[in-house]
Amino acid sequence: SHRAIVVDRPLPDARPEAILRRVETAAAALEGGIDVDVLFSSVNYKDAIALTGGPGILRSLPLTPGIDVVGRVRTSADGWSAGDTVITNGGGLGERFDGGLAERSAVPAAHTIALPDGMTARTAAAIGTAGFTAALAVQAIATAGVSPDDGEILVTGAGGGVGSFAIALLAARGYRVAAVTGRESLADALVDLGAERVLERSEIDVADGKPMQSSRWAGAVDSVGSTTLVNVLAQTSYGGVVAACGLAQGPDLPGTVLPFILRGVTLAGINSVEAPLARRREAWAELATLPVDVIDSIAPRTEPLERATTIAREVLAGRVAGRVVIDTRA
Ligand code: NAP
Repeated sequence: SHRAIVVDRPLPDARPEAILRRVETAAAALEGGIDVDVLFSSVNYKDAIALTGGPGILRSLPLTPGIDVVGRVRTSADGWSAGDTVITNGGGLGERFDGGLAERSAVPAAHTIALPDGMTARTAAAIGTAGFTAALAVQAIATAGVSPDDGEILVTGAGGGVGSFAIALLAARGYRVAAVTGRESLADALVDLGAERVLERSEIDVADGKPMQSSRWAGAVDSVGSTTLVNVLAQTSYGGVVAACGLAQGPDLPGTVLPFILRGVTLAGINSVEAPLARRREAWAELATLPVDVIDSIAPRTEPLERATTIAREVLAGRVAGRVVIDTRA
């Protein structure tokens, strides 16, 4: 048996609860799964919802949350050898089948890559789905042809995991970054990550949000959605690219098509969960170029499994800056 956080309903109609307990280890719980000892996981926004019994993440119960696994392969399979360190982000982990908040996991081979040379397991967990998603977003903007000369790139939800990594990756590529946060106290840290300037939420998510506003951004990485994303689109300059990653403010998009047809703005959707292996390797190759001290500054905390639910509440209350790593063996 091994320790795992298991989310289940204490009674048929009750709200699901997360409990750390011992579970029987199924050999290959999942078709195409690689049996790994989990070294590290983390608490992403999705994990925070799942850990606190919220809806929409875990497709069945009981289930172990954790969309990130950095693990060591136990038995050679699928081209991997025992002892290899692997990274799995999404692919159904912690949503459709048991995830990384456990000592052992069966990770989907189609979404698993090798730990990049020179990267530690802890650093890979510090990056996690948030950093991976940020890299996909930055690569979408660059691939679409937006270059550092075109103007500033806006990052919303800048104090969160996706936002913080987006700032660091954009700055490393030479883009000028404007960061939006609701937390003034994070301003210095966001500048240290590479933001040229920091804006307050209300400067972007303007109350009277006109369908077209002055051109301000060559592109944007948005993890907020809703009226913020609508305003960002309305402020994006001709030919700009906005990467939509998240919905921290809401899943709605109450706007008009005017930015698309009057300014040729592109709204690029980012999905990390189903990203194919080639995209994963490309994204992680870029992440591997970030200085370790920058990554550590985004994810300074390492916590044991039994603290995951407490951290989930902090994430949902907007009290975590950056990310928290979970050491599954602590
Ligand atoms: P996170 O660390 O909790 O960051 C979210 C940030 O959004 C917060 O730190 C906050 O930034 C801002 N925010 C929160 N509530 C807000 C509101 N009501 N209005 C405006 N801003 C608000 O979460 P994350 O892990 O970075 O994930 C961010 C979003 O991306 C989530 O919706 C997540 O589900 C999504 N996501 C999607 C993918 C994908 O594959 N598409 C992958 C990973 C994550 P400030 O405090 O700085 O304002």
